[in-house]
Amino acid sequence: MRITFWGTRGSCPSFPSPGEVRAYAENVSAATIAYVQERIHSEPGLAELRELFQRPSREVATELPFDHPPGFGGETTCVGVETSEGHTIILDCGSGLRACSAEILRQHRESNLDRVSLFGSHSHLDHRNGLSFAGLCYADPPFEIQVFGGSEFLSMLDSRFGLFSHTTTAATYEDDPVDYAAMTASFHGIELRAQSEQQELKPAGPWEVRNLAEPVVIGSTTVSPFRSYHGSTECLGYRIEHGGKVFVFSTDHEKLSPGTPGLAGLDRDALDKSVRADQELVEVCRGADLAYFDGQYLRAEYLGQQGIGAGPAIPRVGWGHGCVEDILDRVSPGEIKHALIGHHDPERSWLALMEIAGRLEEFSTGRDYEVELARDGQVIDL
Ligand SMILES: [Zn+2]
Ligand SMILES: [Zn+2]
Repeated sequence: MRITFWGTRGSCPSFPSPGEVRAYAENVSAATIAYVQERIHSEPGLAELRELFQRPSREVATELPFDHPPGFGGETTCVGVETSEGHTIILDCGSGLRACSAEILRQHRESNLDRVSLFGSHSHLDHRNGLSFAGLCYADPPFEIQVFGGSEFLSMLDSRFGLFSHTTTAATYEDDPVDYAAMTASFHGIELRAQSEQQELKPAGPWEVRNLAEPVVIGSTTVSPFRSYHGSTECLGYRIEHGGKVFVFSTDHEKLSPGTPGLAGLDRDALDKSVRADQELVEVCRGADLAYFDGQYLRAEYLGQQGIGAGPAIPRVGWGHGCVEDILDRVSPGEIKHALIGHHDPERSWLALMEIAGRLEEFSTGRDYEVELARDGQVIDL
């Protein structure tokens, strides 16, 4: 399967500032000038430059021996999974869905792809703010979109767009002016509900309900949902198996432990729920070829000992997100071959991300597994 990370920023889309872009351009200019200066004083150096500059400038630019810094991007959560059988699975519809959708439309024209499965983690805005900008919702011929998720996620999409009930209310237009009638796509909702909740008298939405414990089968691919801990908001992760390979998608998950300061201010059962979800996460990750995790904070930022960027140092316990250090603990038994850390804090600058990326590279050196920061546009074939 081919996995493409279209959005890896957390909470709010965030891009390099004009100042960061200018600093990058100045660094490239300085490196180019230094490259020329080193060669200009000797005959062999001049010959090298003459040979180089006879070629088209674009071609030379791609071959200059500079290390370009990695770009991380700033779209919010969206991951695309294409299977070898041509099925397309989308995980979350954050702002990254816009670019994901452009790629799907390209395939739509080439291969008549007209059906996708969208699995939502939870109802928060950063995981659904790409839907009204996604070309696949407005395509002709239209797409059929199967939407899987918890009841809160489906209810939110229905109240914002009328996707399943085909009814609108004042709430439909609170975020933007688009509703289901403006979209050509047909949406079919499938709620993933835990067995223990099956008997509860929840108002049923206009969608199917299936047992959370039963994997969803799409061709030869299985998608197994599991619960994350994201405070009082219900949140799901997914383990995807295809062709003998395993990819685990886990976003917006917080690991609480008995010693975590600030626990007293949380719900009484918060610690139990988080511990249970974290144990399940360790289980579902066993033997994973690739796993994506929420590592929005460094531990000191989480505990309020230091701020993020220029922001104030405030404790973030109970906000529903994980720490980079939790992920390093989780991967250390070496049962996950490749771990990606995402849901980058919107305040985290490009430079700060590069610094963390460097530390993760050092951490991974000499180990038989790898941990790195996730980047928008990153493609991994399993
Ligand atoms: Zn989020
Ligand atoms: Zn969230």
